Amino acid sequence: MSSLPTTDRSAVLSLQTSDDEIALRDAVRGVVSTYGHSYFQERSRTGEPMQELWDSLGKLGFLGLNIPEEYGGQGAGLTELAVVLEEMSGGGCPELAMVLSQGIVGSILPLHASEEQKRRYLPAIADGSEKFVFAMTEPDAGSNSHKVTTTAVRDGSDWVVKGTKYYISGIDHADHFLLVAKTGTDEQTGRGELTLFIVDDPKPAGMHTQIIPTALRAPERQFTLFFDEMRLPADCVVGEVGRGLSPLFDGLNPERVLSAVICTGVGTYALNKATEYARTRRVWGPPIGSHQGVAHPLAEASIELEAARTMIWRAAALFDAGLPAGTESNMAKFLASKAGMKALDTAIQTHGGNGLAEEYGLADLWSIVRLQQIAPVSTQMVLNHYAQHTLKLPRTY
Ligand SMILES: Cc1cc2nc3c(=O)[nH]c(=O)nc-3n(C[C@H](O)[C@H](O)[C@H](O)COP(=O)(O)OP(=O)(O)OC[C@H]3O[C@@H](n4cnc5c(N)ncnc54)[C@H](O)[C@@H]3O)c2cc1C
Repeated sequence: MSSLPTTDRSAVLSLQTSDDEIALRDAVRGVVSTYGHSYFQERSRTGEPMQELWDSLGKLGFLGLNIPEEYGGQGAGLTELAVVLEEMSGGGCPELAMVLSQGIVGSILPLHASEEQKRRYLPAIADGSEKFVFAMTEPDAGSNSHKVTTTAVRDGSDWVVKGTKYYISGIDHADHFLLVAKTGTDEQTGRGELTLFIVDDPKPAGMHTQIIPTALRAPERQFTLFFDEMRLPADCVVGEVGRGLSPLFDGLNPERVLSAVICTGVGTYALNKATEYARTRRVWGPPIGSHQGVAHPLAEASIELEAARTMIWRAAALFDAGLPAGTESNMAKFLASKAGMKALDTAIQTHGGNGLAEEYGLADLWSIVRLQQIAPVSTQMVLNHYAQHTLKLPRTY
């Protein structure tokens, strides 16, 4: 544990990789390599969590890097957590659970939860013994979080929740979930006032779940959650009632950064395989990598991955420094989701027919990288945000 990083937050972004980061990357890579991509493939087939890998990383303190020390974490930051997930993905084991539990909930609770909530939940997130998932998306609201219609209404000392959430990943693996619900309407804007709730029991009375069959190859399955008068105690509200939007974004920006490192990690994994293959595979005599038609796309994909990574570390550093990180987190996810897709596709092409073989472990990663252009926020919604807030163009929707 002595080699865990102690980032100097006064330097917002270091231009050189620190010794601590190198040590962290080496340590995570070592753990992940003992499992390998076939482990991810097997858990994707069965729908069981990658629990052994998770526990191994938890024992080394790598699941609590962004959690403050006083609540059982390492007190480092999103940057270090993102390094862990990038290395997991780079070893062929991308982990959505980390995006949800450490990334979203592990970022929101230290900033907005009550002292009692922090003491109850953060140590368990930090050591990985308990996992959170996250329930925001709804069938009729989708990309528009202002249109959330799942409502929580006060009844005595309880809240009563009615509504539906969909595409909620991994609820069957979760110990708790963070729920976004509407508790009122802003009279001036007509928009819903949102509140965040911790649902302690992942199978509460008044909620039933239905699996959504999807093409996603990952250990996490997706579910629709139906709430029919689910009762929650008053002390499960995180932050202020009706003011959940700003705390929510303290979780959604890390979610974007972590979604981005899944793409750069998988992209790096794929390019490593492809360059090795291109160096050794011969069909006309010289290795296929000696043909520019093979080499240039690999070089281009690698350059684009590196460019995306630059934006990722910038976004993470801004977040860790407590500075506004929304635009950079969006840009990082935008660039990485495209660069990761291109790297993976180029690697598949480099492998010819073997690119689709299970044994080569490439094509089965397509869906998890492709997903990052749809969720957590779609490519178009990133462009909408950038056009409106950075380019100051009129809102088009
Ligand atoms: C595998 C998977 C796992 C997920 N896990 C979770 C989870 O754990 N928790 C959770 O809360 N959610 C989760 N989601 C939901 C995800 O965040 C949403 O799918 C995403 O936000 C898009 O919402 P939607 O699917 O309703 O698309 P819609 O909002 O219906 O949009 C459909 C298309 O129209 C485009 N579009 C919509 N409005 C505009 C506009 N104004 N301008 C331009 N284009 C527009 C969108 O970009 C998109 O391409 C998951 C989704 C998937 C597929």
